[in-house]
Amino acid sequence: MSKELELLIRARNPLIAIETIDEERAVALVQQVVFQQTHRTLYQWSLTEGLSIVQSATQSSNLVPGGKPQPALQHILDLDAEKAVFLFRDLGPFGKDAQTHRMVRDILRKFAQSHSTLILVDALPIPDELMRFAIRFEIGYPSAEELEAVVKQTYHQLRKESDKEITAKLNRPEMEQLVQTLRGLTASQAARVVAAAIFDDHLLTKEDLPRIVEGKRTMLGSSGSLEAIAADFSSNDIGGLDNLKRWLKQRRGGFTPDAAKFGLEPPRGVLMLGVPGCGKSLCAKVVAADWGMPLMRLDPGVLFQKFIGESESQLRQALRQAEAMAPAILWIDEIEKAFASASAASADGGLSKRMFGTLLSWMQDHRHPIFMIATANDISALPPELMRKGRFDEVFFVDLPQPEDRAHILGIHLSRRKRDPKQFDLKKVAEAAEGFSGSELEQLVVSALFAAFNEKSEIKDEHLLQEVGKTRPLSVLNREKIEELRDWAANRCVPAD
Ligand code: ATP
Repeated sequence: MSKELELLIRARNPLIAIETIDEERAVALVQQVVFQQTHRTLYQWSLTEGLSIVQSATQSSNLVPGGKPQPALQHILDLDAEKAVFLFRDLGPFGKDAQTHRMVRDILRKFAQSHSTLILVDALPIPDELMRFAIRFEIGYPSAEELEAVVKQTYHQLRKESDKEITAKLNRPEMEQLVQTLRGLTASQAARVVAAAIFDDHLLTKEDLPRIVEGKRTMLGSSGSLEAIAADFSSNDIGGLDNLKRWLKQRRGGFTPDAAKFGLEPPRGVLMLGVPGCGKSLCAKVVAADWGMPLMRLDPGVLFQKFIGESESQLRQALRQAEAMAPAILWIDEIEKAFASASAASADGGLSKRMFGTLLSWMQDHRHPIFMIATANDISALPPELMRKGRFDEVFFVDLPQPEDRAHILGIHLSRRKRDPKQFDLKKVAEAAEGFSGSELEQLVVSALFAAFNEKSEIKDEHLLQEVGKTRPLSVLNREKIEELRDWAANRCVPAD
């Protein structure tokens, strides 16, 4: 990575933009490249610290005090520096201001002669006004080696600072597992998660792993659009969907070196289209558990709502994060919700179209061991490009369960609630529950249990049958819509069951 940045600087690019929340890492990288590889003069600016000339990672002298960027930019305009590097932190938000914008452009013109480079490091997206003159540089997430160094550094630092004895007991495979768990976090996030795990008992052992997974989950929840999902299911938890299960099982070893040696391309992903509540999400969790890969959910709906104006860079960031965690399962739930307007004349100024384009080209180009599972309930609204061959390995249609699968699903949910399915006439209940989805069958079991509990009796077939009588399944209420979906899927998708 440092080589690439060095080349960009040496190639006389006047403006390089690094969008990242890992500011420390970006600054450290720039300093390393400037001091050790290009041997140029480095200046640094931030709103709080002003402009300084930096002699080394720990030594600098201030030239312009902190405050708005114009005095610092003026200083640069007046400066007679050849082949220097100017690192600006968080200049982005000022880029929309006419005076700042003008000064930056004047500087860039000057740099074309003096072969200097302005590098922007911003946690917030850099506005188009500046981006159009910049070359983007992605620093990505820390590699396994870097994360291992973070773990060791955090441990040694805490040992030095703490007045209690701190010990680590991790063998090589446990250390590798720990590092794998930390992937997708920035260096400072990883350090915080590890520090929290050490602090609770002054030990770093394999017992800390669940805590670290939990720490990572909260960290991701608070900082990005990717959510780490617990996947503690097995394929025995899914009733029916045999075809889909078989297909997934066959691709289990698809990411191994043996598969590559055999001449196989790693699997890229599946699209599951279907009736709501029939186990699509459950399948994503089962695949992750079965393949032993972390499951990351990308909710494109959240991308749009939470970060208006930042959606595109958030999507790119989420994809980078998924790459950093690879091998991983990337699950895009209800993909139609976010990208539906990409197919129509959209009302969001082309945003969803652009985001959809970003996603499609990523799906096409990325070479990371990432298996994508996209789920959709209403595919008619989806842009046809998504269905084109080669994007997904297969498109499955998940229909309402057949009678024998309904019995199986009822059995699964009874067992989960500590009841023996053999004590029930599930064939009869399943026949009565015509048109019920998997989630409605689960609800049926829950309601019947409540009914029995209130009567202070044990749950019996009658409780289940009574609840069947009380429920109007979605498939009855939405009969036409489901018929339409089935017709649409008939020639385009492979049945999941
Ligand atoms: P939606 O489109 O509404 O998100 P979905 O198809 O993704 O629905 P799930 O979220 O997987 O459906 O289903 C909800 C719950 O219903 C599951 O957590 C599971 O408990 C139960 N369920 C659904 N289908 C099945 C099934 N085939 N076997 C066992 N349980 C099921």
